[in-house]
Amino acid sequence: MEELPLYWTNPDLCETDAVVVESLPAGGGWSLVLDRTPFYPGGGGQPADRGEIDGRPLIAVRKENDRIIHEISSKYPVTAGEVVCCSVDSDFRWDSRQQHTGQHLLSAALAHEGLNTVSVHLGADYIGIEVEGSADASDTQLIDRVLAACDEWIIGNHAVYSRYLTPGELDGVELRRPLKATDESQSGPIRIVDIEGIDQIGCGGVHLDNTASIGLILFEGSEKLRGRIRLKWLIGDRAIKRARLLSKEGKRLQTSLSCSPEESTTRVEKLLEDVQSARNSLKEADREIGRMLAESWLRETGRTGIIAKNIVGGRERMEAVLEVLQTVDFSSVFLIGGASEDGLIPWILYMNDAGDNGFNSFRNTVLVPFSGKGGGRLPIWRGVIIGNPDKIIGVFKDMMKGSNS
Ligand SMILES: [Zn+2]
Repeated sequence: MEELPLYWTNPDLCETDAVVVESLPAGGGWSLVLDRTPFYPGGGGQPADRGEIDGRPLIAVRKENDRIIHEISSKYPVTAGEVVCCSVDSDFRWDSRQQHTGQHLLSAALAHEGLNTVSVHLGADYIGIEVEGSADASDTQLIDRVLAACDEWIIGNHAVYSRYLTPGELDGVELRRPLKATDESQSGPIRIVDIEGIDQIGCGGVHLDNTASIGLILFEGSEKLRGRIRLKWLIGDRAIKRARLLSKEGKRLQTSLSCSPEESTTRVEKLLEDVQSARNSLKEADREIGRMLAESWLRETGRTGIIAKNIVGGRERMEAVLEVLQTVDFSSVFLIGGASEDGLIPWILYMNDAGDNGFNSFRNTVLVPFSGKGGGRLPIWRGVIIGNPDKIIGVFKDMMKGSNS
């Protein structure tokens, strides 16, 4: 039997020597073939390993025609016959083994629920499993059952092992999914990965030795993708890290809300309701101030004057002023409000008898010099403007004086 790759026979091995069989210049470095390699070249939804060869960064590792090509970045030549030290990034390898082995468990549990794994995406944030089948993948009870099954298998500490079978020996072996063309085109025997009593499938990936090393699986949500559903998971150390963070943040939340974990969501929902209702009261109060302002100005000016004011409040107050003044067919009203954080001041213009030309001269005289924007329809226009409120009001008043003289 042809020698099996180290990443299959000894996935714990992250440091080892190897002899360079072939070395060719490539890009800014060298493209190497080694007599043996611990580097997994990627495949089956599992990424290629990262690491170094003789302290030089491994840029890429991939399988080409049954040979594994390693690209390294190096100014100095590497020659055939040289012995090099291969060093796999052990943290990355461990994470990859946890995610991938956890995915075997999840795919087995999902298959029990009538959902077949169609593809797998292992990202830096989560592992995504795309499924299709008769069941509803967005059913939260289904997800709970899948997690419960995985919990039981993790606690049960089932062995994960590989068998290498010839096509003839495969007869009668029941696999979770039929072998893929890539499984069968491999030279030599076909690798079957078994999780004792749970799952068996053709796979060329790098796995953990047992299910207990998976530790924990968390469900992170789902998204629709190409008409299918992608289920997102955190597995192993990633899940533990997340659970610890959630626990810590949860405790902070419970302290500030003075409640139990079970009550905290309801408590936050209630607080949000209260905030919304306070906002509504504030708006109503702002409108009331607007109405009172408008009525006091009417008493001062009568019904035919020109009002140009900085009302200091927001849109609600401005609109309330306008509503009152409109009911008495007031002649001209220009209001500006309080500036937003980025310095934009809301404005509103009401010109009962000026026609469209009124707005045109307003635009040229007031908006343009103060980088203002806005529009509307006779007799009301709205927008934002930037500048000193007193100056803006002054320019508007001058414009109105000019048009009346
Ligand atoms: Zn696998």
